[in-house]
Amino acid sequence: MQITRLEITVHHRVPNPDPIRDALQALPGAGSVEVTLHTDETVHGASISGTSEIYFGRIAGAPDALASLIEHELQPLVLGSDPAFVRATHAAMVRETEYHGTAGLATFGIAAIDTALWDCQGKALGVPCWQLWGGIHSRLPAYAMVGWLNYSLSRVQEICAEAVAQGFRGVKIKVGAPTLREDVVRIEAVRTVVGDDVALMVDANQALSTAEAIRRGRAFQELGCFWWEEPIPAADVDGYAALVQALDIPIATGENLYTPADFARFLRRDAVDIIQPDLRRAGGPTAMLQIGTLAAAFRRSYASHGGGPVQLNVMACLPNAIYLETGLLGPDSPFALEEGCVPMPAGAGFAWS
Ligand SMILES: [Mg+2]
Repeated sequence: MQITRLEITVHHRVPNPDPIRDALQALPGAGSVEVTLHTDETVHGASISGTSEIYFGRIAGAPDALASLIEHELQPLVLGSDPAFVRATHAAMVRETEYHGTAGLATFGIAAIDTALWDCQGKALGVPCWQLWGGIHSRLPAYAMVGWLNYSLSRVQEICAEAVAQGFRGVKIKVGAPTLREDVVRIEAVRTVVGDDVALMVDANQALSTAEAIRRGRAFQELGCFWWEEPIPAADVDGYAALVQALDIPIATGENLYTPADFARFLRRDAVDIIQPDLRRAGGPTAMLQIGTLAAAFRRSYASHGGGPVQLNVMACLPNAIYLETGLLGPDSPFALEEGCVPMPAGAGFAWS
């Protein structure tokens, strides 16, 4: 099987005039880049292709910039390649982009190609990717990230209660308000509606100093929060090591780390308890599997950043996977929760069904 053509489509999106917010930024949405890899192979008369889509929460010009990077830098490495050698293509893309840095948009592009290559391979063989890799979990607990920082207290309570009514046994809210007191009021307000048996995660999106993160972490662990996510700037490995040392509450981070090398630094320094790789910044499923396996060797847990079939297929194969992140279930949700868990997708490649 060979890749014969790349189809790169930019989907622009009208920014939401009332965007969701965390402690770092507003996220009005900025569209996406969809990549389809066409091959010369057919199964039962249908030609095999693989797809991926990379979304941007902000930066209006980013989808066009990424499309250009994929077209001009990565496409020459992918055309004519065999999806069976997806890890070789991944390594070639890492080598090529190293000249200007394999981070930022470069890993977003690598992730787009890598995801679509694995999708081709799964579809050619007629199995979900988790079956190609070898599974360990048939389903995974999911939590709902629903408590944005710009929501009123009553809105946060309402949406967390709705998540629990849908069957979620974990919810996450944003913290990192100007004062600890405001964060505590928010956590206590949510706890009164979700009860004591629901896991309550808190996320400050890099907003605090290390000293303030330790002070708030002590309060959050007394309140029974499940994990303390990205309290300080993502690259501050020494700061994270200090947090892990000072606090009992598990420290979660990783959505803003790039490639397995960043995770290796954090794991070696004992600077994280729960890793949360982002598909785009990690560099696709090939890198996420490496990162997850490395963390398992350090006996650290893996929770997804964002939810979808790619994240779920990856976590199906990781012994240390603990939680899929998702939002509220909509009317056309591709899955139903079973005892708070999402069943593994049954579709070939990364298809849901
Ligand atoms: Mg986060």
